[in-house]
Amino acid sequence: MPWSHSILNLPWMTITKMEKTDPVRVEADYTGPVRCPHCASERLRKKAPFVREVRHESLGHRLVWLVLRGYKYLCRECGRYFRQRFPGLLSYQRATEPFKSEVCQNHHDGICQSRLARRMKLGTATLERWYHRHLERQMAERADAACPRVLGIDEHFFTRKAGYATTFCDLQKHRVFDVVLGRSEAALEGYLSRLQGKERVRVVCMDLSATYRTIVRRHFPKALIVADRFHVIRLIGHHIHQLWRQIDPSHRWNRGLLSLLRRRADRLSPEQSQTLEAYLRDHPAIHALYRFKQELWNLLRPHGLTPPACRLRIREFLDRIWQLKDSPFASLASLGQTLEDWQEEIVRMWRFRRSNGITEGFHTKMEMISRRAFGFKNFDNYRLRVRACCC
Ligand SMILES: [Zn+2]
Repeated sequence: MPWSHSILNLPWMTITKMEKTDPVRVEADYTGPVRCPHCASERLRKKAPFVREVRHESLGHRLVWLVLRGYKYLCRECGRYFRQRFPGLLSYQRATEPFKSEVCQNHHDGICQSRLARRMKLGTATLERWYHRHLERQMAERADAACPRVLGIDEHFFTRKAGYATTFCDLQKHRVFDVVLGRSEAALEGYLSRLQGKERVRVVCMDLSATYRTIVRRHFPKALIVADRFHVIRLIGHHIHQLWRQIDPSHRWNRGLLSLLRRRADRLSPEQSQTLEAYLRDHPAIHALYRFKQELWNLLRPHGLTPPACRLRIREFLDRIWQLKDSPFASLASLGQTLEDWQEEIVRMWRFRRSNGITEGFHTKMEMISRRAFGFKNFDNYRLRVRACCC
């Protein structure tokens, strides 16, 4: 490849002149074959010359204008006239494709639109249009991507007008598979019934949402549902703290104590353990409650266990559920009922390592995408941006 090809990053282009100005003006000639765009014939007659001045990839930090000389031709085969085309430059465009992809990549890497538009001497609308097309092209390549084997499902807030959206996350490849507007069965029905390759999904991880469970059971018949560890642990804590506030309302606003009660016992410093123990010594009922919560947490926290190890734990878990359901306190009884309703999904947590933490992480990223764009009105634009950036 001649050196001028590698400078311009365009095939068949020979640099004839370069002006050391800023922006740099590069004049180049096309030396490749010319064919008729209608019949691909090479039997042509050269007619009038023309010049095209277009934007091109930067040289270092200097902007580049590319000046191309071409000809109008008459095709002797089909008798039609046409203007010569150049590789890497589409008709009617005032910028080459390498330049557009440079701009899009800069914007994708986080340079904001207004700043980049000023630097590249472009309009913001042009930049937005190019970037949008760039994302659409990228997504078209992924259009027939297969359903992931391990799927994470969760909801997140979109706008006050349109409400919530559902995220489908590929937990094996750590990327967002899709986002769909709505979180009800009716809203997701259309999307899921059209989705191809649903039988590939083996595991679905979700929080304790009955709606999502119904949807998954109907649409992913071969998938096992696994409860999300974080949500189960948080649910137990929530119910037990509710009861603690009922038993001892005087310490309800004691935030330091509340924080100590909420944490794992093995992660407290010696001074913190002493403070907590002093409090629990004066309140035996709360002490029993605290111990129960810590034991239940320790039971549910492990993951990646072998089937025999899981089997050993099931009996203890069922015992705990019966104890909770027998309790005279409404909040404990309701916790027991929830755990019983979800017992299979919770028990599977021991076997699997994945949790929905990845999906939750992407939700933070989505919020940032939304903020950077000062909010989205159109869900399709939001979806395009999320799928392009969260992978
Ligand atoms: Zn022709």
